Amino acid sequence: MTFLSGHEPEPRSPQSGSSLAGLNVLVVEDSGVQRAHAVSLVTEMGAAQVLEASDGIEGLAALAEGGGIDLVLSDLDMPRMDGIAFIGELAARGFRPKVIIISSQEAEVLQSVRMMAETYGLSVPGVIPKPLTSLVLEKVLSAPPRLAPALGPSAPSARQEVTPGEIRRGLEAKEFHCFFQPQVTFQGALFRGVEALARWRHPVFGLLGPAAFLPQAEADEELMSGLTLAILERVAEHWRIWKRRGLSLDVSVNLSARSLGIQGFSDHLMDAANRFELPPRALIFEVTESASTTHLGHTLANLARLRMRGYRLSIDDFGTGFATFEQLERIPFTELKIDQSIIRLLPMAERQMFMTRRIVQMAQDLKLSVVAEGIETLASWNALRHLGCKLGQGYFIARPMPAEQVAGWAKQDRSHLRGQELS
Ligand code: C2E
Ligand code: MG
Ligand code: MG
Repeated sequence: MTFLSGHEPEPRSPQSGSSLAGLNVLVVEDSGVQRAHAVSLVTEMGAAQVLEASDGIEGLAALAEGGGIDLVLSDLDMPRMDGIAFIGELAARGFRPKVIIISSQEAEVLQSVRMMAETYGLSVPGVIPKPLTSLVLEKVLSAPPRLAPALGPSAPSARQEVTPGEIRRGLEAKEFHCFFQPQVTFQGALFRGVEALARWRHPVFGLLGPAAFLPQAEADEELMSGLTLAILERVAEHWRIWKRRGLSLDVSVNLSARSLGIQGFSDHLMDAANRFELPPRALIFEVTESASTTHLGHTLANLARLRMRGYRLSIDDFGTGFATFEQLERIPFTELKIDQSIIRLLPMAERQMFMTRRIVQMAQDLKLSVVAEGIETLASWNALRHLGCKLGQGYFIARPMPAEQVAGWAKQDRSHLRGQELS
C-alpha cells in the first residue's frame, strides 16, 4: 500500500493554461491502479505537488502534513474511512480545499454527497463518474463556481471572523446595508419585488456577506435585533426612493429564527416599520426554521401578530431541513420559496422535478404565492415556467445588487427574460 508518497514532479512545462497548474493536489483512492492513474493524470496536468492516500484516514493525515492542499480528488467507497466520512472530517477540522468526488456510485448518491460537502462549507467544483479522464477533470475545474455568493474580492473567510463588539461598532457607524435581488414573474417577466440581503461595508475587510457576520450576530439577541432594524431602515429609505420613481416593489426581509422567539419582537418590528413609514403591504417577512425554535409559543405569537396586521409571511428554503409541510399548518404563511438546492438541479434531476411540481401544485391549492430561488440557467427558468411557478429569483435573472442599480435594472435589463416567452 502506498502511504502519502509525495510526488515532486521533475521540472517540466506544465500544460499551459491547465487549471491544475501550481496547485497542491491530494488523491484519495483505495484502488492502487486507479490511484496511480489519477496521480499521473494530475501530474501531467501540471499540479505542483501530488500526495496520495488509500483511504480517509491517510487522507486526513496527508492534509495535516501536506501544508496547503488546494484540491482533493476523493473516491467514495474505501475501507476504514470512506469518502463521506472523510469529507465530513476534513470540513470539521477546518480544512478548506476544493473537493472533487470521483466514484462509480449512482448519480443521485454523488449529488447528495456534493450537497453534503457544500453544506459543510466546502467548494465542490464537480462530481465525476469513473473512469477519470483529463478532459472531464479539466472541464470540471474550469466551470464557474456555482455557489459563490455575489460578493467582491473580500468574500468572508475564517481569517476575517468578526467579533460581536466589531458588529456593534459597525451598526453604530451605519456600515450595514443591503443588496437587493429582483424577483420577476415567469409570465411576462414583470418586476414584482426584491429580496433584501444584508451586506457589511467593512472599513478594512471590504464588502462582507451574511456568512461573515450572521452567525455571530445571531448568538446575541440584541445584536440580531439591531441588525434587523438597521436593514429595515435601509429598506425603507430605498423603497421610498423607488416609489417616487414610479417603481412599486414588494420587499422581502429575512428574519432570524432566534429573534422570532423573543416575546414582543413583532411589536418592535412593526414600530420600526411605522417609524420608517413602510406600509405592511410592501413587506414580506421571510422565515426559516421558525417552528423548530425552543420558544415556539413566542414565535407563533409574533408571526400571527405580523400576519394579523397585514404583513405577508414567506417560508424560506422550502423543501430543506426545517422548512417543511408541518410548518405550513402552524403558521399563516402567504408565500413559499422553493430552496435553491432543489431548483439548481432542474430540469435534469427527475426527483427534483417531481418535488417542484408537487410544491407548486400545493401552493396553488393553499392559495399561496410560490417563488423559485436560485435559478441559474435558462433551462431551469423554462422548466419552472412550464410547471406553473409564479415568481423567480436567481443569478439567471439578476445577482443581488446595490440599491442604486435597481431602478436602472428595471428599465434595461429584463429583455433577455422577455425574449424567452415563446420557448
Ligand atoms: P436566503 O434568504 O435563502 O437568500 C438567498 C441567498 O442565495 C443569497 O445569499 C443570495 O445571494 C443567494 N442567491 C441568489 N440567487 C442565487 C443563485 O442563482 N445561485 C446561487 N448559488 N445563490 C443565489 P446571501 O446574500 O449570501 O445570503 C445568505 C443567507 O443569509 C440568506 O439566505 C438568509 O438566510 C441570510 N440573510 C441575508 N440577509 C439577512 C438579513 O438581513 N437577516 C437575516 N436574519 N438573515 C439574512
Ligand atoms: Mg431569504
Ligand atoms: Mg432561501
